[in-house]
Amino acid sequence: MTTPIVEMDGDEMTRILWKMIKDKLILPFVDLKSEYYDLGLEYRDKTNDQVTVDAAHAIQKYGVGVKCATITPNAARMEEYQLKEMWKSPNGTIRAILDGTVFRAPILVKGIEPYVRSWKQPITLARHAYGDVYKASEMKIPAAGKVEMVYTPENGEPESVLIHEFKGPGIVQGMHNTVKSIESFARCCFEYGLSTHQDVWFSSKDTISKKYDHTFKDIFSEIYQNEYRDRYREEGLTYFYTLIDDAVARVIKSEGGFIWACKNYDGDVMSDMVATAFGSLAMMTSVLVSPDGKYEYEAAHGTVQRHYYQYKEGKSTSTNPIATIFAWSGALRKRGELDNLPSLSHFADALEKASLDVVESGRMTKDLAMITTLQNPQTLNSEEYLDAVAEKLSEYL
Ligand code: NAP
Ligand code: MG
Repeated sequence: MTTPIVEMDGDEMTRILWKMIKDKLILPFVDLKSEYYDLGLEYRDKTNDQVTVDAAHAIQKYGVGVKCATITPNAARMEEYQLKEMWKSPNGTIRAILDGTVFRAPILVKGIEPYVRSWKQPITLARHAYGDVYKASEMKIPAAGKVEMVYTPENGEPESVLIHEFKGPGIVQGMHNTVKSIESFARCCFEYGLSTHQDVWFSSKDTISKKYDHTFKDIFSEIYQNEYRDRYREEGLTYFYTLIDDAVARVIKSEGGFIWACKNYDGDVMSDMVATAFGSLAMMTSVLVSPDGKYEYEAAHGTVQRHYYQYKEGKSTSTNPIATIFAWSGALRKRGELDNLPSLSHFADALEKASLDVVESGRMTKDLAMITTLQNPQTLNSEEYLDAVAEKLSEYL
């Protein structure tokens, strides 16, 4: 390696898996260069969360990071860890600094079949992570009266539109988005399409929402025409816009293998649907991509708290490390691409192949053994599974 990757350690069961993955699958094979940041809750608390901000800046500097799952504190965690403050979600902090979009993609393996028979390749879901109903202002209208929306420019005359003349009680909601955020979302999607060689689909409800959703559609189209069309043509890729209703029908009938960009609410709902339909939360990867092409890889699941408490009691756990392994392989492959190190990218491919081949040979963690279509699967604990992957990996390398 010539440039370091930014390594962000985390919490609970995934922190245990993190070390095992490094010791068994990375360090024996790669002359690893990484800049280490401990995002475990204790150290975040000790540094007043400065470590999270520093890690995000390091990703901006080096371009590639890999992150372990971390606890987002709530009241129970305040107590459990005696925290000074209820620190914000590290993912939120990093996303805000990188101005990025999160792409979630399932890992497909023989024996864990999608519920939708036509799906042959992963569907990557890109959710716009700013605004709309998540930053809305709402009001309960107690009785008859008029509701208006008013825009007061910094200089100039106010403008208003009538929302509704209520004849009785009701409800209203005012929501917004910004051109800057939508532009950045569009660029992240087009960058990621190029980087993973996949078509990009975007859907919204522009036929009904002629100003709001239509602006999303227009911004995507303008950025595509002006900045990406030629590169997409050269790569044999396309950008495709369709109404959300039509998109839902097409997604179900498709073979997969594309990026589906969604507005905030659509992305929230559709990502849960797509993830579940592909089989398992433990097999979802997640990558944060910034509009200027910085990448942060992680597993989509959390710290698997329930398993950690068993582990602390000295019990063996069968926690699935595959999504975390793929976070490492994703980051190392990207580093290999950026630094022109084919052997590093080759290592990433071999690591993924070894992880999946062990599953396809019938050996897997409990979560997969419960849903596999393979006959007589053998259930391994996390360590046994990682040892089996290490053995295959040595063979392949
Ligand atoms: P979770 O860690 O995703 O786990 C929820 C349940 O899903 C587990 O109890 C387990 O089911 C199953 N599961 C998830 N990942 C698995 C894996 N790799 N192998 C096997 N089973 C797996 O969610 P949580 O327990 O609700 O949240 C724990 C902490 O994670 C929270 O503090 C939350 O803040 C944090 N979190 C972090 C991130 C992130 O850093 N990106 C994302 C989400 C949540 P069974 O118990 O049935 O075996
Ligand atoms: Mg959701």
